Amino acid sequence: MAPSAAPSRIVIENAAIATVDANDTEYASGYVVVADNKIESIGAGQAPAGLENVVRRVDGTGHLVTPGLINTHHHFYQWITRGLATDHNLFNWLVALYPTWARIDEQMARVAAQGSLAMMARGGVTTAMDHHYVYPKGSGDLSGAIIGAASEMGVRFTLARGSMDRSEKDGGLPPDFAVETLEGALAATEETVRKHHDASFGAMTQVAVAPCSPFSVSTELMRQGAELARRLGVRLHTHGSETVEEEKFCHELFGMGPTDYFESTGWLGEDVWMAHCVHMNDSDIAAFARTGTGVAHCPSSNARLAAGIARVPDMLKAGVPVGLGVDGTASNESGELHTELRNALLINRLGVHREAALNARQALRLGTAGGARVLGRAAEIGSLEPGKLADLVLWKIDGIGHSSIADPVTAIVFGAAAPVTLSLVNGKPVVEDGRLLHADEDAIARDARQEAQRLARIAAEA
Ligand SMILES: [Zn+2]
Repeated sequence: MAPSAAPSRIVIENAAIATVDANDTEYASGYVVVADNKIESIGAGQAPAGLENVVRRVDGTGHLVTPGLINTHHHFYQWITRGLATDHNLFNWLVALYPTWARIDEQMARVAAQGSLAMMARGGVTTAMDHHYVYPKGSGDLSGAIIGAASEMGVRFTLARGSMDRSEKDGGLPPDFAVETLEGALAATEETVRKHHDASFGAMTQVAVAPCSPFSVSTELMRQGAELARRLGVRLHTHGSETVEEEKFCHELFGMGPTDYFESTGWLGEDVWMAHCVHMNDSDIAAFARTGTGVAHCPSSNARLAAGIARVPDMLKAGVPVGLGVDGTASNESGELHTELRNALLINRLGVHREAALNARQALRLGTAGGARVLGRAAEIGSLEPGKLADLVLWKIDGIGHSSIADPVTAIVFGAAAPVTLSLVNGKPVVEDGRLLHADEDAIARDARQEAQRLARIAAEA
């Protein structure tokens, strides 16, 4: 399209709107005008008269419009190893599953990514991420397969290119055959960034540098990974402070707790976000706040693996950026993010802050603006404001699940998972009436079952 061409407009009217801007601006009945891939205007009442080139008008009666949900932690490949090791803690679960995971190939990675993305997109996720860290020798172009699946589905995407180089022989948790070498991991990560990372405003694909965790990665890979990310100008991601066992591991191996270890390897900073951060003391939280280090809160996974309750209310009070994560679906079989708004709220109320822990609007913020900040994209996504990218969701709240709840935000957070009538990513429809527009859900379901069975067979024969 030539730059002088008039923008195509989509107009949404008669909907409740939660903008999740800095002031939590909401409209009981309002409009959003989308021009090409951006939000042009938003407000109460009807859209301005006389708009040109309107290609679509959406009557949002009975709906709430919010920013699209942003997932900040996931492992797509686990879609084909769901429902295994169901009564384990993190370390036992990892040891049980690593040998299976280490047999994945490109076809499995593609199908698992499609399943993970489909489940999230149909539940209102417009920005997804995948922390992929299993790259068996000779397994093909796994990163390319995953990125291809996201771009076919039409969602905005960050690949956190993970790695592991500390296996059992070096005191780590993964088996020796499941890891890369230090040099191999760094070179492959750099290649992935150079090939796929788009730093421009509105990018659909970004790449982060993401060694897996302190117990599967050498200190040298942590250190050189941080240097690589800063040299290339991309973000850093890893797992941190997930369980008491990890804390013990760090004290035994490094003579310090996880947060001090991260600081000593260059891993605190506003270009870093970490999954979990469950076992954080006051000084850990202060260090994250001081450095602007972000957190991907994964309440269902933390409950599934009996990891504990992250101190989200204390983090928010201290100014730590916090987003929400599904985590891999081997530890959160549902694979949905919209239900994590509710789970974040409920689980945090089981902690010391009780009913004051989180409210509905804070939960919605975690899943939108909080996630945008954690991914370093707060200027582009996470709230509905003129000039930002048109990533938004129309939630149906006049059906049986929600019609008797007066407050729309309370309805989608406290109530059942709300159906998605329409989602836009970069101004383009991705979901209509609960169905994906650019993927065949039935085919994905069939392929996922087939690939799960094939992986189980290969792992059993090994
Ligand atoms: Zn994880």
